[in-house]
Amino acid sequence: MAKSPLPPRDAECIFCKIVAGELPCHKVHEDEHTIAFMDIFPASPGHVLVIPKDHHPDLLAMPDDLLGPVMAATRRVALAVAKSQGPDGMNLFQANGVAAGQTVFHFHMHILPRRTGDGVLSTEHGKRAGDHAMLAREAEALRGALADM
Ligand code: 5GP
Ligand code: ZN
Repeated sequence: MAKSPLPPRDAECIFCKIVAGELPCHKVHEDEHTIAFMDIFPASPGHVLVIPKDHHPDLLAMPDDLLGPVMAATRRVALAVAKSQGPDGMNLFQANGVAAGQTVFHFHMHILPRRTGDGVLSTEHGKRAGDHAMLAREAEALRGALADM
């Protein structure tokens, strides 16, 4: 049987519909594996999403061989965002699961331009020292999980 030229997709997924051209977007980049387009509910001016053309719900479902192309496209678009928006900084992030704030279940990287003091994304890391006994237990559990993979 001939291989379909269309990427694997989910019938209900809005990002698959954008990839297929069935929904409009403000596209800024396209290559063999990825597209990037403006977020229609931007958290800051110049907020861009970078997605694989294939449907994978989140990072945990992403095949290793797509991660390189997606990060390469993300870096390329981030350079363009830096050039065109001149932000003071940028956050790159992605959410996995409802509890993490994920609302579209097709893997995507956010590129979020930041201005000093804009308060757009509050982060808790680096503020309160961790408990070393707890960190050691967590690291031990993680090493065990990695060894089983
Ligand atoms: P998540 O919350 O899953 O990390 O991010 C999903 C992002 O997709 C949100 O920032 C939201 O504004 C954006 N978004 C949702 N629907 C659409 C759409 O139809 N077109 C575009 N361009 N962005 C969308
Ligand atoms: Zn999809």
